[in-house]
Amino acid sequence: MDAGQDVPRCSRCRDPAVLFQRQSGRHLCSMHAITDICDRVAATIREERMIVAGDRVAVALSGGKDSTALLMILSRLMPAWEGVSLVAITIDEGIAGYRDETVRSADSLVHSLGVEHHNISFADLFGNTLDELLKGREKEACTVCGILRKKALVTGAERAGATKLATGHNLDDEAQSVLMNVLRGDFSRLVRNSGADSSGRFIPRIKPLMGISEKEIATYLLLNNAWTDLPECPYSGNALRRGVRSMLSTLEYRHPGTMLHLMESKKKIERDYAGADTRDPIRHCRVCGDPCSGELCQLCLLKKTFRR
Ligand code: SF4
Ligand code: ZN
Repeated sequence: MDAGQDVPRCSRCRDPAVLFQRQSGRHLCSMHAITDICDRVAATIREERMIVAGDRVAVALSGGKDSTALLMILSRLMPAWEGVSLVAITIDEGIAGYRDETVRSADSLVHSLGVEHHNISFADLFGNTLDELLKGREKEACTVCGILRKKALVTGAERAGATKLATGHNLDDEAQSVLMNVLRGDFSRLVRNSGADSSGRFIPRIKPLMGISEKEIATYLLLNNAWTDLPECPYSGNALRRGVRSMLSTLEYRHPGTMLHLMESKKKIERDYAGADTRDPIRHCRVCGDPCSGELCQLCLLKKTFRR
């Protein structure tokens, strides 16, 4: 018997397949896996009107897998978009033994792609590294980091003159967040559209990889020789996300398409509640003037706790 007969073949060209898309039942060769992923990202961008002519898109480039794939895919799609330019923003939170390596990886990627690059560190912007700020409050690491990084990214995007801020959130991240909001009973966050801000003071955020799974991103990087094994953040350890991630992976394996169905449910809920604004009205922080829902924005509230 010909041993080659057992090798799965690409559903589009019959070459040996490298990727099996369980939800569509298709096998894809390396060339068609790459084009399929890029075509789906382009379709998401078009359907959601994420990028329009004249946009300057700032890509939040941590140097990790998702943001690396995002910048590579957007650079590849760029020539088809009229007047659109790309710039990468890297935030160095100051996490010893972790961030240095990913920052190096980000530097070498922008160099090879020829993309303009801006680096911003927590130390420059807030006066201290994340490691310094977290002394004695390590359990709050991701909350503190998230608030500060959001501000750092917006600052970087503004300095770079960007009109959109693109992040590397993938399908797995988005599906996990939907389920986490349900499990926490956080309905307003569940129906909140990312980037929605009537004040016009925020640069809209876009997530072009929201329809691409973690596995497909890994495949994309491997096929483009861009896979690098990077260390994990020493603070990572959100117990709820870990549990949800493991549950969703098992469900996705047993019932392909689970994560996509979850995202469709979220979209339907968003549409049904489109008229009913469940958010608090937008106010402005009385210290810094940024849009927020209370008296002070999250960043100014956090800064108060550092001064104690
Ligand atoms: Fe920041 Fe938490 Fe991510 Fe580490 S795991 S980079 S502390 S958000
Ligand atoms: Zn504020």
